[in-house]
Amino acid sequence: MGRQFFVGGNWKCNGTTDDVKKIVSFLNGADVPSEDVVEVVVSPPFVFLGLVKSLLRSDFGVAAQNCWVRKGGAFTGEISAEMLVNLNIPWVILGHSERRLILNESDEFVSDKVAYALSLGLKVIACVGETLEQRESGSTMAIVSAQTKAIAEKVSNWDNIVLAYEPVWAIGTGKVATPAQAQEVHFELRKWLKENVGHEVAASVRIIYGGSVNGANCKELAVQPDVDGFLVGGASLKPEFIDIIKSAT
Ligand code: PEP
Repeated sequence: MGRQFFVGGNWKCNGTTDDVKKIVSFLNGADVPSEDVVEVVVSPPFVFLGLVKSLLRSDFGVAAQNCWVRKGGAFTGEISAEMLVNLNIPWVILGHSERRLILNESDEFVSDKVAYALSLGLKVIACVGETLEQRESGSTMAIVSAQTKAIAEKVSNWDNIVLAYEPVWAIGTGKVATPAQAQEVHFELRKWLKENVGHEVAASVRIIYGGSVNGANCKELAVQPDVDGFLVGGASLKPEFIDIIKSAT
C-alpha cells in the first residue's frame, strides 16, 4: 500500500483567539480529499490546543509544537508529554529548527524527546534539516543523517513517526527547495533508513517537506516520488493551506 499523504500546519507562536477561530472556520468549511488520501494535522500554540480541538472538524488532527523531554515535574514553563496525552492531543512536533537553533536543542535532546513522547503513545513529527552554510559546504546529508541517526538510536518502532525534512534556509524565507533538491534529500533519507533501520521502515515512513511551501509551489513538490506531504508554516495560517492539502491528489 502507498504511503498516505500528510499535511501538517505549524502555526508557530502566532495568533489570538479570534485568529484561531477564523482559521478553524475556513478549515472546517473546506472540501478536501478524504482521510484515506490525506492526513491533515494542525499545530496551534499550546494555549489554543483545547479551543482548536473543541472546534476543529473531526477528520483533522491536532499537534502540539513541542513537549518536555521526560516526565513532567519541576520544569517551569514546560508542557509534558503526559499533559498532551491527558488532553487527547495525539501529535507533537519535535526538533523544529527554530528550537534546535534558537533554543539550542541538540540532536541527543531531540531524540530523547522523540523516544519519550513515543513511549507515552504520542505520534511525532520529527524535524531534520541543514542550514545554508551546511548546504553550501556540501554537508547536507551528513547533517540530516546524523539528526536521523540520533533518533534511530533511541527508537525501535517508527510506526508513529513522520520525518519532516526542513532545510533551515527555506523556512520562513520564501526560498523554497526546488522539487529536485527536495526529492534528492528525501531519496537519500529513505536510503539511509533502508540501510540503517530496515527495508520496511524505509518503505513505510512518511518523509514530508517543509520550507516556504505555498499554494503555488506545492503541486510540483507533491508529485516527487519520495515527498509524502508537507509541514507548512506561514501558509498554514491562510486559506491557501487548503490548496496545499489538495495537492495530495
Ligand atoms: C516550518 O516552520 O515548519 C515551516 C516550514 O515554515 P514556512 O512554511 O513558513 O517556511
